[in-house]
Amino acid sequence: MGLLESFYDKSPIFFQNLMVSISGYLRNRTRYGKVYYEHREFLEKFDKLTLNEKLKIQEDKFIDFINYAYENSSFYKELYRDIDINSIKQMSDIKKLPIVDKEMIRANINQVNTVERMGAVEGHTGGTTGKSLVVLMTPEDMMKRMAMLDHFKSRVGFEHLKMKRATFNGKHIVPPNQKKKNFWRYNAACKQMIYSSFHLTEANMKFYVENLNKFQPDAIDGFFMSMCDVAGYIERHNIKLTFNPVAIFPTSETLTDSGRELLERVFGCKVYDQYASSEGAPFVTECEKQVLHVELASGVFEQFEENSDEVLVTSFTTHGTPLIRYRIGDSMTFDSDNTRCMCGMDSPIVKAIQGRKLDFLYTSDGAKINGGNVANLFKNMPNALIRAQTIQDEMNEITILLEVDKKIYKPEYDEMLEDEFLHKFGKGTKINIKHVDEIPREQSGKFRMIKNNVNSQK
Ligand SMILES: [Zn+2]
Repeated sequence: MGLLESFYDKSPIFFQNLMVSISGYLRNRTRYGKVYYEHREFLEKFDKLTLNEKLKIQEDKFIDFINYAYENSSFYKELYRDIDINSIKQMSDIKKLPIVDKEMIRANINQVNTVERMGAVEGHTGGTTGKSLVVLMTPEDMMKRMAMLDHFKSRVGFEHLKMKRATFNGKHIVPPNQKKKNFWRYNAACKQMIYSSFHLTEANMKFYVENLNKFQPDAIDGFFMSMCDVAGYIERHNIKLTFNPVAIFPTSETLTDSGRELLERVFGCKVYDQYASSEGAPFVTECEKQVLHVELASGVFEQFEENSDEVLVTSFTTHGTPLIRYRIGDSMTFDSDNTRCMCGMDSPIVKAIQGRKLDFLYTSDGAKINGGNVANLFKNMPNALIRAQTIQDEMNEITILLEVDKKIYKPEYDEMLEDEFLHKFGKGTKINIKHVDEIPREQSGKFRMIKNNVNSQK
């Protein structure tokens, strides 16, 4: 624990709010400078272009970017040593460049990086696979990323810095020994109330809801599962909300259909999904019609192999740690080229984003069942389930942890659930159902519905 953190923990709450706001103002200086506003303006105009005009701009940006990497990163200079970089003249030439993966970047990180750590913004990849990577973004990269994100939100009516937002995240804002039921801090710099994901227990939930009603946010963002927990509580207890947000923007977790429906029902507004990893990947965002579009100004997505959904990314906002044809580990399915969206925006449509690699469970035959499908198996216990987690340590065994509302939960639900799982995973899979008072969260504060430990043991 740092000195500042221990000072924070010992301070009164009003002072903690002040510290959160000051750090917010300092962060804003690196996020909302000249480049941010210029990029917002650019994106505004970019949206109105035709697809061909957009592709041309994407191509120009791509060529600039690989030349930058070649000149400034000794890793790429070496990697491209047999390639005439001047022969890369159009988008299709991208295939001439070799593919890079996480291990290559990690093992050569100092040669990959084009800037010093000092003065750069760090991005950390999720450590679920045990391979954590710190990438560097220049302040300009960071500003462009913030501009992209805020532009996406503004398309559906939310203006960042002007409107109020409630954020559920994994920041340590509540000291461990705090007695008061005050699980939020206010960042005045962004009109943002930050709610701690670590303290979202059934007993604390009513304090969160009271505070949301008092704060009256215009949008809710952050951890999807945390929002679903709150929404589930509001619905089970039939609590009336006194505010009407314009949108909900979940981040960094795979959305489930049932969770999305729950949020939209409870908060009375639409949920807009986005894809952009902390490594600095290009963006895919949902438009007003809730259709996923590739943000062509942010980078390039390619299929890893024919007949594979896995993608390679080239991201224009990774000048510090350039990612070119990078195997990020995510999968997407793209719509055919001639489908146009009802929203009128002319850019490629993504049909689905599959979750992170570990976001699935194995059947007894070794097939993968993805997170969305697993979530569906819990559908038939109306409102009785507070939270569930599925854990797979061995191929033929799945443990289900259940946190239930004891007043509504019926004993026969266990059997029903086991049936559903056996049906999906095969009779060869052993299903253990355990009832617990509280399913622990990850260190990051995120809640994981699926913990697949099979791969990491190999
Ligand atoms: Zn659209």
